[in-house]
Amino acid sequence: MKFEVDKDLCIGCGQCQATCPEVFEIESDGRAHAYVDKVDEDLEADARDAMEGCPTVAISCPNDEE
Ligand code: SF4
Repeated sequence: MKFEVDKDLCIGCGQCQATCPEVFEIESDGRAHAYVDKVDEDLEADARDAMEGCPTVAISCPNDEE
């Protein structure tokens, strides 16, 4: 499973990093990035929580669209 951050939508609030730091981090540009290409199963729930908690809906999961 893979997650993506739309940097045009991200406001850099840090919520995703706080919820799932194993997958998301705030980069030097102040926007979040999903730095894990393939999220382990045991992290999927936390990563999904981060996605669903994003206030600007900037996080997507391309696998969901297949
Ligand atoms: S929760 Fe959303 S808006 Fe906040 S830093 Fe993460 S991707 Fe950006």
